[in-house]
Amino acid sequence: MKNLNVGIYGLGLIGGSLAKALSRSSPELTIMGYDRSRKRLHMSLEDGSITEVLRGNKYEEVDVLFLAIPVERSKEVGRKLIAKLRTDAILTDCGSVKGPICDELSEYTKGPFFIGGHPIAGTEKSGYENCFPDLFKSRVVFLTPYKGTPASKIRMVKSLWKRTGARVLEVGAGYHDHVFAFVSHLPHIVAYSLVHAVATFDSALPLGYSAGGFKDFTRIASSDPTMWSEIMVENKREIVMALRHFKKNLSQLEALIREEDVPGMNRYFNLSKKKRDSI
Ligand code: NAD
Repeated sequence: MKNLNVGIYGLGLIGGSLAKALSRSSPELTIMGYDRSRKRLHMSLEDGSITEVLRGNKYEEVDVLFLAIPVERSKEVGRKLIAKLRTDAILTDCGSVKGPICDELSEYTKGPFFIGGHPIAGTEKSGYENCFPDLFKSRVVFLTPYKGTPASKIRMVKSLWKRTGARVLEVGAGYHDHVFAFVSHLPHIVAYSLVHAVATFDSALPLGYSAGGFKDFTRIASSDPTMWSEIMVENKREIVMALRHFKKNLSQLEALIREEDVPGMNRYFNLSKKKRDSI
């Protein structure tokens, strides 16, 4: 592969980690970056994660542009950015929800190209201050290309992610959002609502005594509230369906407890344990 010019728009946890991973693994790449925060832009230039600032006619030099800003703004910003690219260039994103942005940019299969992406990596901390080059190592990145997107363009995005140590899989955008409503969005809802229930309870529960359970289980309730509110809106349909199913299961368990139905509880817990053990 020729030496590519890579652009990274948004130098927070994900964009910053990508810049660090690529500059470390592939010093031959030119990495241009932009963030609306001058501080983050400065930090990434100073530590050498990006080689130059992405602005003005620099967009015409970009081969692959990664969009790594909050999902809520990604559609509008993505549309503006892709219009600045050459017809053989690619825009890809890192958003946690794929349907809305893939619908928005669905005409971009002939060049410039849009290829949806989602790295399954992250921490409960955000911002460039918390990024690190190994964030994507041994993690999976999902790509959600359109049917008409040329294989050579998908290969190019895949090869860049592989340089971060990630494994790349392709899925449909709708299937991605359905799966992630269950495996990521619902767990965040449960963690946030559990901590909320405790925080609004009328007696001060001594959480310090809860050993590993409460603290481990609710770690993700420390995630960025703004980012998660936006994800809820972007994937509302799938999340509401998952939540409805979850509430049904919770009510089922409540009834078993109220009726002191020990065999019923055993069956319920055993089914859960078997599934959890199989992961
Ligand atoms: P972040 O808050 O750490 O970083 C976002 C960066 O984008 C910030 O530096 C901010 O200044 C910049 N920004 C915001 N709006 C901008 C704009 N209009 N123009 C220029 N810069 C702008 O967020 P993050 O965790 O890096 O998330 C980025 C994307 O990655 C999101 O779409 C998110 O869904 C996705 N993602 C996050 C995680 C995670 O765990 N944090 C995991 C996988 C995917």
